[in-house]
Amino acid sequence: MDIKRFVNKFSMRKQRNVFRAVVKCSECGEEVRVRIEFSSDFQAEYNQTNPEHCYTIKKEIIGKNCYNLMKLSLALTREAKLLFADKQGCEFITFERETG
Ligand SMILES: [Zn+2]
Repeated sequence: MDIKRFVNKFSMRKQRNVFRAVVKCSECGEEVRVRIEFSSDFQAEYNQTNPEHCYTIKKEIIGKNCYNLMKLSLALTREAKLLFADKQGCEFITFERETG
């Protein structure tokens, strides 16, 4: 395999596998960014009623300003497109692929 192709493939993979979610604490309004990695945070899912639903991400988050426990659960397609978000103790702001 030629080296250029190898490097391209590698950087694409790296980019694809890191995501970021942003939530807003409902107690104090702090916005918290959460790093999400494919290898450790994506759980494979089989959802009979919604076959598009392929992965679930579950995060428990505590901000810096208070002790409110925020819970975020995201349902994603195979291409890591967001289907729906479930949250407790926070507002869900965004979920996106890390580009930097
Ligand atoms: Zn807070």
